[in-house]
Amino acid sequence: MAGEDNRLELKDVSHVYVNEKGASLAVEKLNLTVRRGEFVSLVGPSGCGKTTILSMLAGLFPPSGGQVLLAGAPVLGPSRLVGYMLQQDFLFPWRTIRDNAAIGLEITGGKTAAALKEVDRLLTELGLPGSGSKYPHELSGGMRQRVALARMLATNPEVMLLDEPFSALDLHIKLQLEDLVDETLKRLGKTAVLVTHDLAEAVAMSDRVIVLAANPGRIVKELVVPDAIRQATPMEARKLPGFQDVFDQLWAELNRAEGGGGHA
Ligand code: ADP
Repeated sequence: MAGEDNRLELKDVSHVYVNEKGASLAVEKLNLTVRRGEFVSLVGPSGCGKTTILSMLAGLFPPSGGQVLLAGAPVLGPSRLVGYMLQQDFLFPWRTIRDNAAIGLEITGGKTAAALKEVDRLLTELGLPGSGSKYPHELSGGMRQRVALARMLATNPEVMLLDEPFSALDLHIKLQLEDLVDETLKRLGKTAVLVTHDLAEAVAMSDRVIVLAANPGRIVKELVVPDAIRQATPMEARKLPGFQDVFDQLWAELNRAEGGGGHA
């Protein structure tokens, strides 16, 4: 089927928010295709529409114009095929780690004994062996984000939406988690869209980086990350000779998108 390899498509997508102050055009005529198994990052100044795009991909609301497609079919609402990981882990403090990781399974009616075993396996695989019966307050911030990753993977979605999932973490934990997410999503062949303010993270993790500008939100540049960087782990990628070049290009594009401002 034609749409099979194009996991996500935005076709001429525009969105207008309407509230008591009037109507504002948040994003205009976006066209973007993310292939199956591809990792794409969205970067751009505040207000360029990153959250709006993720929300539409997640089916939280339809675009005012154009189409959002998942595997060739219009996205009509939230779907089991799409998982999230956010900056905040949103773990319920009164639930065990296992029950937190299994919450998606519970909602979709798949919380069987076998599925819970699978959750424990997943927790072990993600570096949290034996933590299933612990509670969130017993875990560090980095460990809690690993639980959030397990929770996202437990329902086996095809597409992962990652909204600044590492930005609240200390640098060394962030780098470890980037490697873990990269390795896990690659191994499972997942399609991913990452929103990040960290340009090095975008280059280190992605196949492509999309630069957006604001007022209205639109795509101004698409940067394809060279093969050598893509094939390396995010940690190793940062040490490759071509890395700084790609980072500098992205920095320049972002400055242009921000209208010549100096911060990223
Ligand atoms: P980003 O995530 O890149 O910061 P957003 O998607 O949050 O950008 O916002 C894009 C534009 O839409 C901005 O101009 C923002 O002010 C506007 N916007 C976002 N959410 C709303 C809303 N609920 N009502 C009105 N305007 C909104």
